[in-house]
Amino acid sequence: MRLFKKRESLHFWLDLQQKNGRKIGFVPTMGALHEGHITLIKASKKENDITVASIFVNPTQFNDSVDFDKYPKTIENDILLLEGVACDVLFLPSVAEMYPNGVVQNENYELGNLETLLEGKYRPGHYQGVCMIVHRLLEIVSPDNLYLGQKDYQQCMIINKLVELIGLKEKININIEPTLREYDGLAMSSRNMRLTEEERKMAPEIFKSLSYIKENFNNKDLSQLVNEGLSALEANGFKVDYVEIADAGTLLPIRKTEKDEKAIALIAAFLNDIRLIDNILLN
Ligand code: AMP
Repeated sequence: MRLFKKRESLHFWLDLQQKNGRKIGFVPTMGALHEGHITLIKASKKENDITVASIFVNPTQFNDSVDFDKYPKTIENDILLLEGVACDVLFLPSVAEMYPNGVVQNENYELGNLETLLEGKYRPGHYQGVCMIVHRLLEIVSPDNLYLGQKDYQQCMIINKLVELIGLKEKININIEPTLREYDGLAMSSRNMRLTEEERKMAPEIFKSLSYIKENFNNKDLSQLVNEGLSALEANGFKVDYVEIADAGTLLPIRKTEKDEKAIALIAAFLNDIRLIDNILLN
């Protein structure tokens, strides 16, 4: 695996590869890699000549400094995992490399509703930070295919919008891979590493609530389902940001099942200071 730390050298090398007709797949991550990330790498390996992974814990997308400081870092293990699946390139830039003019949010992407709903509401500024870093990474890597996880459903929608805003819709194909889960349903996440044994036992309640909503989506009142999800989580020690049933195309809440309308249930909740998110498509 080739390791690049400088944006210019990566861009130069990838440009050469593309000029030689090689297709590039890109998997942006924040590291602390797990099997969920690896499924994205594998998907890219199947469909591209060169797979690039990036690891960068992006300061501008953290609205909570404790979350940023405590974000797990396991770079040696990450490199082993990436080498294990023959990832071709790892981009591992420093903060100064990605933010040469300092860590400031000075761009403004027109994200519409997506920025104020759900994650946007509870993590102000988060998606502007995501757009800033993904914009920079896309300019450096210039991939043909981009691989994202459904676990961060709203982020997938945001990046889709970003690609449109920066005029790369025709160039970049976005691939969304299903959420990889632990044996008990808990969505794999780098933040799971921070859970205590006790919290780890509680954590699958999020997936249980989502599954319950899915099972009852066609035969129960949706407000009632939301309330039941909320109560189940609170009873298990969660502090809930949201339990929502939404239109999968707009993320606006829905309270009545409409035929042909794609729906999704989404949850964000804290176990002590660890915030977990997950979602499930309902139809
Ligand atoms: P992160 O390192 O958390 O920023 O995630 C990097 C990419 O991996 C994002 O596109 C995530 O949606 C994706 N991802 C994270 N967890 C999972 C999972 N459990 N299954 C599949 N993809 C995931």
